[in-house]
Amino acid sequence: AKALGKAQWEVFTADMHSNASAQLQLEVDLRRAIERQEFQLHYQPIFHLETAAIVGFEALLRWHHPLRGLISPVEFIPVAEETGLILPISWWVLQEACRQLSRWQTQFPLEVPLFVSVNFSSKQFSEVGLIPQIEDILHTTGLAPQSLKLEITESAIMENAEATAAKLLEIKALGIQLGIDDFGTGYSSLSYLHRFPVDILKVDRSFVSAMDSHENLQIVHTITMLSQNLGMRAVAEGVETAEQAAQLRAMNCQYAQGYFFSKPIDASSMEHLLAHHYQS
Ligand code: C2E
Ligand code: CA
Ligand code: CA
Ligand code: CA
Repeated sequence: AKALGKAQWEVFTADMHSNASAQLQLEVDLRRAIERQEFQLHYQPIFHLETAAIVGFEALLRWHHPLRGLISPVEFIPVAEETGLILPISWWVLQEACRQLSRWQTQFPLEVPLFVSVNFSSKQFSEVGLIPQIEDILHTTGLAPQSLKLEITESAIMENAEATAAKLLEIKALGIQLGIDDFGTGYSSLSYLHRFPVDILKVDRSFVSAMDSHENLQIVHTITMLSQNLGMRAVAEGVETAEQAAQLRAMNCQYAQGYFFSKPIDASSMEHLLAHHYQS
């Protein structure tokens, strides 16, 4: 530290200061984003690999900042989690995703109804009234719980494993399905699988996009088999090429999503895609 000259130190603190104020500004803006209706959901279709049918979607949050334009959830979700703003935002997301899916199910009645998968934050587990609020949203949107899936990361589960396990059982008891997001990137992946009522493993994009290496191909294959052996389903994330889709199909991975099939798109684009997909 002695070697640091005064000038360098000043640059450093000025930097920290501008970071802190940028963070603060983001927080202020985030606080107003719901009431100003700056949020929007995009939907990425999830495909059944064997039949190439769209079976559901993942809902992904988008923020159209009035000055900065589109801000990635990777940037603002951590701020929302630190400030607690993730709670009202998450309720908006769940309500909007259920409302939209309910409309699509009416527009596109299928033997097996379309589902929506919603990302869940660890902060939501400690919220009082979590279960009645979810029930209320299902009730007001008229959506069957079987059509809703919640995606939870391994790290969110492990943050407070015992309490989370109890909450997950309550969510399951409503009839909602649970998926582990980014599977394979967290720690102690295997030890909790039998303790938590998990239905779906989402194979992280980092493995899928590197399947040209034999090791990664084997990892994806192993996760796929693991999910089958435990009576779960596997969803491969981040499928970008026809070759990856073919490899996944060959290993009997049930579902896939990724740019090869479709990027996340807004609701009206999705409506066109569904109309096209289910007409012919
Ligand atoms: P995630 O849950 O792992 O979502 C998948 C991300 O991968 C999305 O990024 C999606 O656009 C992107 N993706 C999908 N297919 C491909 C592909 O083929 N190639 C590549 N390179 N990327 C692909 P996005 O929408 O920017 O979201 C980033 C993260 O932000 C999500 O990662 C999730 O952790 C978080 N997030 C998004 N929406 C919500 C939300 O409503 N609530 C919470 N709590 N978190 C959210
Ligand atoms: Ca996800
Ligand atoms: Ca993921
Ligand atoms: Ca991810």
